[in-house]
Amino acid sequence: MAQRVTDVVPAGFHVERTALEADRVVIWVRAKSNDCACPDCGQRSVRVRSRYWRRPADLPLGGRRVELRVMVRRFQCDAVLCPRRIFAERFAERALAPLARRTERLDHIVHHLGLALGGRPAAAFAARLMTPVSNDTLLRVVRRRARPPADPLAVIGIDDFAWRRNHRYGTIVCDLERRRPVALLADREQATAEDWLRDHPNIAVVARDRGGGYGEAIAKALPNAIQVADRWHLMHNASQAFLDAVRKSMRQIRRVIGAATINPDLLTSAERLQYEGYLRREETNVAILALWKDGVSIKQIVKRTGHHRQTIRRIVRGERSDVFRPRQSSLEAHLPWLDAQWGAGVRNAAALWRELRAQGFRGSARVVAEWATRRRQADRADAGSLARTPSARTLARLMTTSRDNLSKSESVTIAAIEEGVPSLVEAREVIADFHGMVRAKAEGQLPAWIDRAANSLVGSFANGIRRDIVAVRAAICSPWSNGQTEGQVTRLKLVKRQMYGRAKLDLLEARLIGAA
Ligand SMILES: [Zn+2]
Repeated sequence: MAQRVTDVVPAGFHVERTALEADRVVIWVRAKSNDCACPDCGQRSVRVRSRYWRRPADLPLGGRRVELRVMVRRFQCDAVLCPRRIFAERFAERALAPLARRTERLDHIVHHLGLALGGRPAAAFAARLMTPVSNDTLLRVVRRRARPPADPLAVIGIDDFAWRRNHRYGTIVCDLERRRPVALLADREQATAEDWLRDHPNIAVVARDRGGGYGEAIAKALPNAIQVADRWHLMHNASQAFLDAVRKSMRQIRRVIGAATINPDLLTSAERLQYEGYLRREETNVAILALWKDGVSIKQIVKRTGHHRQTIRRIVRGERSDVFRPRQSSLEAHLPWLDAQWGAGVRNAAALWRELRAQGFRGSARVVAEWATRRRQADRADAGSLARTPSARTLARLMTTSRDNLSKSESVTIAAIEEGVPSLVEAREVIADFHGMVRAKAEGQLPAWIDRAANSLVGSFANGIRRDIVAVRAAICSPWSNGQTEGQVTRLKLVKRQMYGRAKLDLLEARLIGAA
């Protein structure tokens, strides 16, 4: 019986006796070995001078909590040169640490409870698991076991996070090489970040958001570190700049759209734009296929053209017709001609079809009939829907969506804006070029782009880029990005929410870093 009980206590202990009480099991144990090494000189001793008891908790057993009564011996060290005369028995680190109130295996469970549930909820759950530990104890264990980063930091990301939305902010620092958070700072003040950075002089690269005081803090604390602006924010800010340009132009836009009682020329130009989009895609396809035939790798093509890898793969595989438009019309190439006929008053679908067939169109008469129906409906619908001006956000989206995804009335609206507000068309091109430049990692084009953009509707965005040019350059060509840090902020929010808003900085830090 005693032998079997020995199997349930931590390794290295021998069970002397047990007592089953109402809510707990008490197990008297002692170390199996007769001797113990002196912690100072390492010489083993068998000379026991006295004994005392420790009462650490262990894993629960059969629904009862377990209390060990560990007999601890005091040994005498006989080594001649050893300064220590008496030492208390040490147990295997994996079983019971010196001074610990829990066996190592119970401490491990408590740590993970704390990581998973935070302070108070974890304490409640621990009680149900028959391992009663207080709220404070849980937090203490989590803090104690949080692993400090072993290697000096070299590449970090820094970003802010909200303690409370729009209220109070902190700062999170992530190790981008090892993909884990390393520190939380109490606020997002420049001075706080500066102090922390100064304590980590090995940092060579810092990825950060644009704006905020982090740029200055890094420049002051680590003047030699490379600053990398965040690529995602760059792209996002560029889109935002275009939206602002649309907002600034709303008065002109309203005038242009309002004036457009259905103008047949506009309809034609909407169709023409669709057709031009089609031609442009064809051109791209031909260019990409030519590169591919010359033996240029897909990776290189992505770099040179700025198109998405997936797009290029499809073109190369010959699935080009459905690259941009899943339902391409067989009428596509004939639209300008059809449009001209329609404009000239030829509305008979059967007659149009016969002429098209003579030109080599191979589709059925129904295709043309359906086009004519849509066209008639569009003529009616567009007159009505043009009266309302969509929001700036909608317009910005429509202006940057591929033509094929626009409805007829949307195409007309956009065509009207493009004709009436050319400065907005220019702004759109400037922003598209910026996106292309970042995607293609063509940082060499940056100065020329800034010069061109400075005089456009997105001039203030361009000036911001100019002020932060070193970090923007790095964002375009550096492999490091702050995207990872944002992921950690998301995790942090989750952990914070679990703590019911009572998160203290050091505990939040311990939970976030300890679990990484
Ligand atoms: Zn000794």
